[in-house]
Amino acid sequence: MALTTLVRVPDGINPGVRPARQATMLQLLGSPRHTYGRDCQPVTNANFKAHIVTRPVGPFRVTGFDKAVESLTVVMTEIKAERPEIHEALGSAGMLCARFVRGSEVSISNHSWGTAVDLTLDGSLDQRGDGFCQQGLAEIAPIFNRHGWFWGAGFRTEDAMHFEVADETIRQWFSGEPAIAEILSMGDRGPEVLSVQQKLNALGFTLVLDGMFGRGTMAQVMAFQRAKALTVDGVVGRKTAAALGLA
Ligand SMILES: [Zn+2]
Repeated sequence: MALTTLVRVPDGINPGVRPARQATMLQLLGSPRHTYGRDCQPVTNANFKAHIVTRPVGPFRVTGFDKAVESLTVVMTEIKAERPEIHEALGSAGMLCARFVRGSEVSISNHSWGTAVDLTLDGSLDQRGDGFCQQGLAEIAPIFNRHGWFWGAGFRTEDAMHFEVADETIRQWFSGEPAIAEILSMGDRGPEVLSVQQKLNALGFTLVLDGMFGRGTMAQVMAFQRAKALTVDGVVGRKTAAALGLA
């Protein structure tokens, strides 16, 4: 049977894994940008962007979140060992792409964080929403599963070419580490940013109190860090927040 032959999505897929929830992604990874649309747009959150890498993962190159790219490399190595003919036929239709989920104006696609990848077999894309999947994808889905990836064939609207790092796996990555959302950096906005600006102004800085972490806020955070002999990175992490009396 050819790898691209369409078969019904098998029963019992995705044991033990769920799609990554938006709240999990926003809380642990932060928002890649302020606004989203239908098409891919650049990542603007500098702190998040530092985690984006471009690397070959075996049969193709991807741009995505560092830990996801690392995991995908391991998955591809196992596919190569177990199903070399599928490995050879695999291609990518994209990983990082900051946009809404197709057909939604509220749900941010997990491609926005570069933790999801769309795969092609022999250059052809599986059609979304028909309840069928390419045979080759069904055969490698268990390999993704054992590395904590969710297969999009299990979405309400079947999306068999799509694999994403599962909610459980993302939370495991960050257990014990400070959440990126606890760190404020250029591009962030909201009441926490306003608190930083107020604290800085109380120390004699001259920020516009707009709750937006722009270039001005970053420059004055750096001046504050220099004065306090902290690492001068313009990012308000735990130490800088503590020095400001915020932690
Ligand atoms: Zn996708």
